[in-house]
Amino acid sequence: MAKKYFINTYGCQMNVHESEKLAGILADKGYEECEGEEEADIIVFNTCCIRDTAERRALGNIGVTKARKKENPDLIIAVVGCMPQQEGAAENIKERFPYVDIVLGTRNISMLADEIDKVVASRNAEKKRSDKKYRCFSRTLPEDYLDIDEHTPALRTSFPNAWVNIIYGCNNFCSYCIVPYVRGRELSRNINSVLDEVKRCVNAGYKEITLLGQNVNSYGNDLDSDVNFARLLHEIDKIDGKFRVRFMTSHPKDLTEAVMDEMAASNKICRNLHLPIQAGSDKVLADMNRRYDTARYLGLIDGLRSRMPDIGITTDIMVGFPTETEKDFEDTLEIVRKVRYSNAFTFIYSPRKGTPAAEMEQIPYAVKQARISRLIALQNSITKEISDTYTGGLYEVLCEDIAPKYGQKVCGRTDSGRLVTFDGTKEDIGRFFNVRITQSKSASLFGTKEGEIE
Ligand code: SF4
Repeated sequence: MAKKYFINTYGCQMNVHESEKLAGILADKGYEECEGEEEADIIVFNTCCIRDTAERRALGNIGVTKARKKENPDLIIAVVGCMPQQEGAAENIKERFPYVDIVLGTRNISMLADEIDKVVASRNAEKKRSDKKYRCFSRTLPEDYLDIDEHTPALRTSFPNAWVNIIYGCNNFCSYCIVPYVRGRELSRNINSVLDEVKRCVNAGYKEITLLGQNVNSYGNDLDSDVNFARLLHEIDKIDGKFRVRFMTSHPKDLTEAVMDEMAASNKICRNLHLPIQAGSDKVLADMNRRYDTARYLGLIDGLRSRMPDIGITTDIMVGFPTETEKDFEDTLEIVRKVRYSNAFTFIYSPRKGTPAAEMEQIPYAVKQARISRLIALQNSITKEISDTYTGGLYEVLCEDIAPKYGQKVCGRTDSGRLVTFDGTKEDIGRFFNVRITQSKSASLFGTKEGEIE
């Protein structure tokens, strides 16, 4: 009987796609996915350390596996991803959870298959010697990482959406962020490799390609050629077939006029952009080391809307950065009123050890919480007002999944990124429909199909 794997994924879309690669490696080794940890022969924790809550959740769940290991000593437990990549973290995991068998950083997940073999071999040897050991592998970054990555299979799990990495790492060192320390400097993939992967996905029937990177706008800066993100979009746009393109995440300091022009000229690149503002105060943006100010940001919003009046713009906003005063926070509310985002991912700042902001004097939690409640209330009212403008309109929607919460319904998104629930069955997944919007509710829209778009 085939051995079974279960992957717990925490954090961003990059991690979701890396879990597809972990699944590909395990499938190549003959493992099959199972429904829950209790059936698994190997449990993988693909961790995130960007937010304190994600880290604490992963640590709590790794702790729970101690009992499973007691019941099943042959179980293999692997902790991979961003968390072990932090200074001293692999050693902490080793000390706190001695029953964890494998620890790998973000840049050596491709070694999972070899590490499983080593664990099995060392266990066989241990049985003979009855000498208990575990393996812990961590933080080396192979120089040929991109080559290895190109050959790491991915078991895609999110049809009709396919995630394609275009750049790894980040050079920006925002003062609150741990990413550059755990994911290293920027490494862009070769343009032909990216184009080949996009073509393979399109030929395999995927209808929406999302290009991924911590900062997609700096794609190509580290390559010895004139390749940049605008050029990549241009080349992808020329690929035959009916499919959509999205990308994340964009950095306001690096978003160019050329990229906006490509978006406006294309009928494949969605009229949808996630452009993190983080704060509406120039002083706080400088303290965050974001390297743009609100004037630059608002100029980009004008540039996008003058080219694409129907574009859906979303953002990330951090509340409670150490130097944020009440006045700075009000500036954030003001920029939210000015830009009128379709939606915003709002979160409370939490110190990340090893970053400059963690050393600053912190704001009391109650103050942060009161501020974020005000921000959420404001954004919710704007989201609802924008949703209402969709009612009665006809929009192209890619059916992406069933929506069991609503009975015989399916869901998908408009070009602008709005979630729409409508009548349909699982056979509709991966097909484009004209959907008439009949009702709006907060960020969600509801509608009825008026024919398929071939
Ligand atoms: S751009 Fe800033 S926030 Fe984004 S990953 Fe890089 S350092 Fe972190």
